[in-house]
Amino acid sequence: MSEIHLKKIAILGSTGSIGVSTLEIVAAFPEHYQVVSLTAGRNIELLKEQINIFAPEMVAVADEAAATRLRQELPGCTAEILVGVDGLIRCATHPDAGMVVSAIVGAAGLVPTMAAVRAGKHIALANKEILVAAGSLFMAEVERQGVRLIPVDSEHSAIFQSLAGQRGQDVKRLILTASGGPFRNTSLADLQDVGPADALAHPNWDMGQKISIDSATMMNKGLEVIEARWLFELPAEAIAVHIHPQSIVHSLVEYVDGAVIAQLGIPDMKTPIAYALSWPERLPLKQQPLDLCGGGDLSFSQPDTERFPCLALAYRALGIGGTCPAVMNAANEVAVAAFLERKLGFLQIPRLISRVMDAHQPVELESLEQVLSADAWGRMQAEAMIIEGAFA
Ligand code: NAD
Ligand code: MG
Repeated sequence: MSEIHLKKIAILGSTGSIGVSTLEIVAAFPEHYQVVSLTAGRNIELLKEQINIFAPEMVAVADEAAATRLRQELPGCTAEILVGVDGLIRCATHPDAGMVVSAIVGAAGLVPTMAAVRAGKHIALANKEILVAAGSLFMAEVERQGVRLIPVDSEHSAIFQSLAGQRGQDVKRLILTASGGPFRNTSLADLQDVGPADALAHPNWDMGQKISIDSATMMNKGLEVIEARWLFELPAEAIAVHIHPQSIVHSLVEYVDGAVIAQLGIPDMKTPIAYALSWPERLPLKQQPLDLCGGGDLSFSQPDTERFPCLALAYRALGIGGTCPAVMNAANEVAVAAFLERKLGFLQIPRLISRVMDAHQPVELESLEQVLSADAWGRMQAEAMIIEGAFA
């Protein structure tokens, strides 16, 4: 790489699936990347290892108990140890960081990532819930600050790559591909009885728990439609979803002349993460090459919104706009957690989200505080409905 000598980066959510893959890239290219701050929730064991290897100047953990443990178990640690949301914000706005990798899961990533944008940091965005909950506000801030926002989500990275060198007004439609998840061929009757272990067993991707459940319900694709709407400034009608079980074609852009440009590759998040870190250049990753001749057929079909209503819920939230997507996202986060704790059945996830959306009076999005209060409201409603069992 020529242009980039040494990029100093902050990683929010370094102990997660995306965080760990990001650090593997950093470790493979120490001449290009240096970590200045890391943040983790409660996985102190892994954070300790990461501190020893990458020597960040600053780290943030979820609470005082985690910070105390870190101080005791890593007495020689020279990193400043910070706590909670304030700690996340300090790490996200570290004065030396040029780029922030936003890889916390859920709406919890919103406040620190917005702080990073406001501090003028370029963003490699894995967290999709930020754009779902606060797309208009976030994009306006990105514009105002003139920072780069590069998608990490594989579909959006594929679209970003397929748009390169083209004119925005020539785009007719985006086609997001979806693997269909572990229940692509499961009947509605059988979906009644699936549990967390079945839902976590994704056929193609190895990911964190929340996104794995979202993939099983197809809410993940719904969130990605909303993410695409904001990243690429296209209306919902111009964003389609195709089921593509092989996860080789990562997404496609259709142009006004009928040409379709796609990006292909093996399903490994390291490619889109590396692209976001190194854009506009490419890193020579030691990836297994895509073998199109030896890998069987590539197939495509329409999604089934009867078995997977979450996709339709996301289009509905996008159509309503304002605070509705933030509320949908919050209800989904609560529903996924409840499903993992076996307090909610798989088919009850969309029912609960739909009920919470029905109860919401959406308002126009004007401030971050408004998003946070819509998020809190959505969580409270969803939790109350679970206790009442009112959504069944
Ligand atoms: P994960 O659950 O594996 O990791 C999440 C990280 O965030 C961990 O470091 C965790 O400690 C931290 N975290 C969780 N809750 C937190 C909180 N309240 N405060 C502070 N830190 C917190 O998640 P993941 O699979 O790496 O996904 C991260 C984000 O990237 C998600 O938004 C997901 O949708 C998106 N994404 C992931 C993948 C993937 O392959 N894993 C692909 C595309 C997009
Ligand atoms: Mg994706």
